[in-house]
Amino acid sequence: MSDTKYIFVTGGVTSSLGKGIVAASLAKLLQSQNFRVTIQKFDPYLNIDPGTLNPYEHGECYVTDDGAETDLDLGHYERFLNVKTSQANNVTTGRIYQSVIEKERRGEFLGKTVQVVPHITNEIKERILLLGQTGEYDIIITEIGGTVGDIESLPYIEAVRQLIYERGENNVITIHLTLIPFLSAAGELKTKPTQHSVKTLMESGIKADILVCRTEHELSVDLRRKLALFCNVKYEAVIQSIDVETIYDVPLKMQDEGLDRVVIGRLKLKPKQSADLTQWKEFLKKYKNPKSIVKIGLVGKYVELQDSYKSILEAFFHAGAVNEVEVEIVTIHSEFISEEDHIDKFKNLDGILVAPGFGERGIEGKIQAVEFVRKNKVPFFGICLGMQMAVIEYSRNVLGLEDANSTEMSDKTKYPVIDLMESQKNIINKGGTMRLGSWECSLTPGSLVSKIYGKSQINERHRHRYEFNDKFNDTMFSKNLKASGVNPQTGLIEIVEYNDHPWFIGVQFHPEYKSTVSEPHPLFVSFVEAVLKYSKSKKQNGRKTI
Ligand code: GLN
Repeated sequence: MSDTKYIFVTGGVTSSLGKGIVAASLAKLLQSQNFRVTIQKFDPYLNIDPGTLNPYEHGECYVTDDGAETDLDLGHYERFLNVKTSQANNVTTGRIYQSVIEKERRGEFLGKTVQVVPHITNEIKERILLLGQTGEYDIIITEIGGTVGDIESLPYIEAVRQLIYERGENNVITIHLTLIPFLSAAGELKTKPTQHSVKTLMESGIKADILVCRTEHELSVDLRRKLALFCNVKYEAVIQSIDVETIYDVPLKMQDEGLDRVVIGRLKLKPKQSADLTQWKEFLKKYKNPKSIVKIGLVGKYVELQDSYKSILEAFFHAGAVNEVEVEIVTIHSEFISEEDHIDKFKNLDGILVAPGFGERGIEGKIQAVEFVRKNKVPFFGICLGMQMAVIEYSRNVLGLEDANSTEMSDKTKYPVIDLMESQKNIINKGGTMRLGSWECSLTPGSLVSKIYGKSQINERHRHRYEFNDKFNDTMFSKNLKASGVNPQTGLIEIVEYNDHPWFIGVQFHPEYKSTVSEPHPLFVSFVEAVLKYSKSKKQNGRKTI
């Protein structure tokens, strides 16, 4: 048996309390003391992965290097820890059942009746222990999605109970994240929902070792004592998680509350070094003390839900801190951009990012946005569908290829400048079948991107079915639009830039997935720098928009 320690994070009272952020913050604190840590998330829904989920349902789908389409919490793990996650870090009930049923079909259960206990719970345990067996980690934090008491969480809670029994209480602990609501009429914080939630966990045989309490107000000593007594945890294991300005404050708040100290003591780990959070604090200082502010328009069709573009927003925070500037994101619904009002929508912006997306809805608005930035020399960043829109806009308005389009939007177009990849043509299943994960890209010497990255070869993550159509190579790149990144194996065009412009870059991949606090993504950093420059020059000279 490996000597990896396991920490489970369960949720009580309500969803959306931020288990992922608490898990990532604890991991950050442990990592800063030289422990090797990773985080995994188990989601109790039946989809095999979130790849087929609408962003409104579940927020952004995060993609790992190995091409897994995962929960957006994995993005937080990577951004906080700067450690790569993989398929093994995100498991759903759908995947667990799929695997058990496939084993049943292969006759691996030797005629036994296949049941939730022990077959599903065994499969869950195997997957929980998988990363620990690599020997790469001292500690594995496992976030169990959903709320304790939900029918669908039960097999996970039972698996955790068994693991505590099998591996011992010094090797496996449970952190229960709960809500302490404030009743304004009574002027009081209430502990009862937490007491009930801890009791529900206890009914399944698990005693919470640590309570992390989300609250809008400070928890008093008396209230902490009450929680400790009624929930059967040590006084110092009642941890307050008060609302903060930014998620990046949470590790420091958790450190003040002693969460890492309690965890290390409870798991009987030998402390390695005192926490070194210098770089983190440096980032926070810059992030909180911007010298100026810029406005970037985010043009997309899922803008009502901020979580749909989580990684893009976070990458902007990282890049803003590097440039010591506050990035204000102005979301613009691409479906409601019209010929008449687009100038009003765009004229106060210092830069525009056209977002990734799928399907026809809202694409004409995106094309309009590209036309505006190209003509007005406003910094432009197009990601995935955003890059495809840049190619279409250029084809229509500069090359005169009337009604040029992507075959995703119109399969009858005379000029299919964006087309389905050859390898995608016979694919029927939607889940897990796009071009996914990390791919190499060679940068053209002398291009803007090669200067920004400062190298000639990069790896970035993809998630799409359509590509720039190489039949148009000659026409497309004969004037000011240049192909500045090419896949060395397939020759596919991965990056375009428009030369008669200070900063106009479209990328077929998703750079936002790789931006972390300690390694902000160079393209975002450079884009924000260009936006800042544009904003300053606008203030000095005033600019007319066309
Ligand atoms: N819908 C486009 C494609 O599949 C773009 C996808 C995206 O923006 N992630 O190619």
